[in-house]
Amino acid sequence: MEQGEMTPLDLARDMRHEEVCILRIGDTGLRVVIAIHDTTLGPAVGGTRMMKYPRFDDAILDALRLSRAMTYKAAMAEMSWGGAKAVIDGDPIIDKTDLFYDAYAEALDRFGRFHTGGDMGIDAADVTELARRTKRMSHVPPEAGVSASGLTAIGVREAIMAASRSIRREPTTAIHVAIQGLGEVGWPLARMLATDGIRLTVTDTDPARISAAVRELGASAVSPDAIYDVEADVFAPCARGAVLNEDTIPRLRCAAVVGAANEQLCDPQHGDLLNELGILYGPDYVVNAGGLLSLLFERGETDEPGIVARVRQIGPRVANLWREGQALGIPPHRLADRIVEDKLARARAKGAGRTGSAPVESVG
Ligand code: NAD
Repeated sequence: MEQGEMTPLDLARDMRHEEVCILRIGDTGLRVVIAIHDTTLGPAVGGTRMMKYPRFDDAILDALRLSRAMTYKAAMAEMSWGGAKAVIDGDPIIDKTDLFYDAYAEALDRFGRFHTGGDMGIDAADVTELARRTKRMSHVPPEAGVSASGLTAIGVREAIMAASRSIRREPTTAIHVAIQGLGEVGWPLARMLATDGIRLTVTDTDPARISAAVRELGASAVSPDAIYDVEADVFAPCARGAVLNEDTIPRLRCAAVVGAANEQLCDPQHGDLLNELGILYGPDYVVNAGGLLSLLFERGETDEPGIVARVRQIGPRVANLWREGQALGIPPHRLADRIVEDKLARARAKGAGRTGSAPVESVG
């Protein structure tokens, strides 16, 4: 789908959202958009993002796009969950008061059909606060040996190693990876890759994070804007969305783009452009599914080794997409979408989903 300048209503209809709801968060003066995209395969799940948007419509558009990506992510990761997302138009530095935690938890309980977790602006401490107040907040206990972001980083690492094999680097660790963003995912990813002996160039808008990577991991560093020009085997976007666009793609000097960020392609056409340029692209929702898979651990459906093994399947999954895409002449992001859409169509035809699957109430 090409999204262009669509209004939120057009986009919700075009993307086939089941429900989009705007809720007032108590007396905080804040509003949350909860977008339920598709629950054919199971109950609605997706993180809560909090940031200040230029216009409230932008928050709605973000919720629509991100919730759709959750449907695709869960389906591709073979999970019995549907896609949703909550987006709060608020300042994560000043708006996260006790009143906010109480009121947002109450809003989630009142809304009912949505299970959520952290995302940009809602960190592990916020998740803990909210999980004390509502069962609707997903929560891997702090004492566990795995975390959602750590699992996401493991999945990205596996996909990077798959890319290294696909571009025939020998040994697979003889690569140079350029990482954009050293946060909850980018930092553990950088640490794992450095432990593997992989050469790193990193950037972040926070100079302290760059200094730590240079000092502790032996990484080279560039300014945030210069990361697109780095001559590397793999570019790993682990910060913001829409970083692959008509301005940045012509600057890329890499053989593959494989990273954690959601919605990396500004538009699906930019995935086509990468393909035309011979740059291997790991579709974001395939590569970054580790955090969502942590739900299986949280629900007691698997133990720590089991969930790590499940996340490591992301490597072969993305390698299959690249192989099949090449054989069929279809860019990997289009092939991934097609696989998910076929799966949803088959499930709808069978009448699966909405009434069955995992009960949300027992999570968290
Ligand atoms: P985070 O906020 O912890 O880290 C983002 C990092 O990027 C920060 O260090 C920030 O300073 C830096 N940054 C921001 N803008 C930048 C820019 N323009 N250039 C360079 N650095 C910049 O977020 P996170 O949890 O690490 O998630 C990173 C991305 O991965 C997001 O797009 C998120 O939606 C996605 N993701 C995260 C998870 C997870 O488990 N945390 C799961 C799936 C997808």
